[in-house]
Amino acid sequence: MAEKKQLESYKSRRDFEKTPEPAGGAGMELWHPVYVVQKHAATRLHYDLRLEVDGVLKSWAVPKGPSADPKARRLAVPTEDHPIDYAAFEGVIPEGQYGAGTVLVWDIGTYRNLREEKPGGRGKTMAQAYAEGKIEVRLEGKKLSGAYALIRTAKQGWLFFRMKDAPAGPYEDILEKSPDSALTGRTLDEIAKGG
Ligand code: MN
Repeated sequence: MAEKKQLESYKSRRDFEKTPEPAGGAGMELWHPVYVVQKHAATRLHYDLRLEVDGVLKSWAVPKGPSADPKARRLAVPTEDHPIDYAAFEGVIPEGQYGAGTVLVWDIGTYRNLREEKPGGRGKTMAQAYAEGKIEVRLEGKKLSGAYALIRTAKQGWLFFRMKDAPAGPYEDILEKSPDSALTGRTLDEIAKGG
């Protein structure tokens, strides 16, 4: 029931007769809590970061995409909660629909809430961490692994960056080195052509 209310914004933007995106409710069999980054070739290419929190995917649009380099702080703009089954969505959102363009699962896996593991019982749930605007997670994806933070800095903006426990660089550009789907190995073009 909680999911229903949280997904009102998601559902109000979409016509499920016209978009292949999931309407929600199917769940996700693979990883829990799920972490996903989707590469989205919409009007502007961007990346959508999503973390499962209390039955929905908390979501941010990251215009420049993630970086494995702790010195790179990436703007992350919060967007509407998405249903859990969106994590495995790859496909083409048709012209005229919200977010029209091609979606590829760039990275997927699970995560641990590092703030819950603080000693002395002072841990925070993900919902608390989200509300505070201070999330620290250990991502266990196929491409990104390690400790990452999401910090709210102003009304509209969060910053997404790797925490400083990372090994010494130099870091390669993981977006360039590994551009294709972590789920199916397909390129954006192959998905766009229905491959
Ligand atoms: Mn998007």
